[in-house]
Amino acid sequence: MTVSHPPIERGLRSDDLIVITGAGGFIGGSLARYFHDLGYSRIRAVDRKPLPDWYQRVEGVECLSMDLSEKENCIRAAEGAIEVYNLAADMGGMGFIEHFRVECLRSILVNTHMIEAAWRAGARRYFFSSSACAYNTDLQKNPNVLALKESDAYPAMSERGYGWEKLISEMFCQEYWAERGLETHIARFHNIYGPHGTWFGGREKAPAAMCRKVLEALDSGNLHIEIWGDGTQTRSFCFIEDCVLGIDMIMHSDKLIATPINLGSSELISINDLAGMVESIAGVKLERSYDLNAPKGVAGRNSDNTMIQSILGWEPKTPLRTGMEKTYAWISGQYADRKAGKRVVKD
Ligand code: NAD
Repeated sequence: MTVSHPPIERGLRSDDLIVITGAGGFIGGSLARYFHDLGYSRIRAVDRKPLPDWYQRVEGVECLSMDLSEKENCIRAAEGAIEVYNLAADMGGMGFIEHFRVECLRSILVNTHMIEAAWRAGARRYFFSSSACAYNTDLQKNPNVLALKESDAYPAMSERGYGWEKLISEMFCQEYWAERGLETHIARFHNIYGPHGTWFGGREKAPAAMCRKVLEALDSGNLHIEIWGDGTQTRSFCFIEDCVLGIDMIMHSDKLIATPINLGSSELISINDLAGMVESIAGVKLERSYDLNAPKGVAGRNSDNTMIQSILGWEPKTPLRTGMEKTYAWISGQYADRKAGKRVVKD
């Protein structure tokens, strides 16, 4: 379903400074490109990765390589900012967040220093990228999950490590608004995917991992794919272009101050069917095996989009098949480049 939305009233001048953290990563990099393409001329992109490792380097965007778990670096990053989009986090797919809970929890340093720095710098708005992992895991034990609505985060029983860190950082956003008047906006992302994201190395998520595994099978001639879990676990996946538009709309809605809101697709699919979709895009049928001991996350998770549809009229425009075709094509190019010894994005 395509829902049109009214023009976004940002109240921004084209030379107002927009700061994006985690901009060497997948969503932050795409957001920097999005605002650049809209004509904003002063964008500061910050990430701890060395500049050559950034997924996207957008021409004309100031790029700083700094560790934002350090307070002084957050102060430098926020200097002069009118808007701050905080997307920096130590994160990855289930393989990462189930094994590296301490790293995930330590992102609290980025979030506490960054919001304080944004407030001290007098930023007009602050965006925080939360996650569906903040939701109560007791509600996600069945693959035929009822879609999660915003109120389902409490009573709290988030994903250990990563999810709890997101939930407490959401609370920081709410209290900085309530006590200090910093206008904050919070999106709970549900599995964002697309070109220019991690596709190998251990942090990749299911859509990218599936594309890579199919390419590996084709390349090696071993027409086999291993799936994590029994493949019945269900998820929804939201294409990156829909996500960046959603971020822009959420950040500039007066109805969504300090109010966490889902940003994701409600098109549910099992991991088995996702594998089938990638096989069909690649034009191959693979023999499957299942690693029941691999990290597989909750049994089922979907996004209830009632709130975002009613407040913003936002709905993802990209069907999963279309988005997966674009993602497969991009990873295919990366795969070929890596094989030819060229530099490719990693993690
Ligand atoms: P990503 O890993 O591609 O990007 C995150 C970036 O943050 C990385 O480039 C990393 O180097 C940077 N970073 C980590 N620690 C840092 C530090 N101390 N200082 C500076 N930079 C640091 O991930 P992404 O998919 O682009 O996710 C962006 C945000 O959205 C994160 O907050 C993530 O938790 C959230 N999120 C993403 C998804 C998804 O499906 N991709 C889902 C839910 C939430």
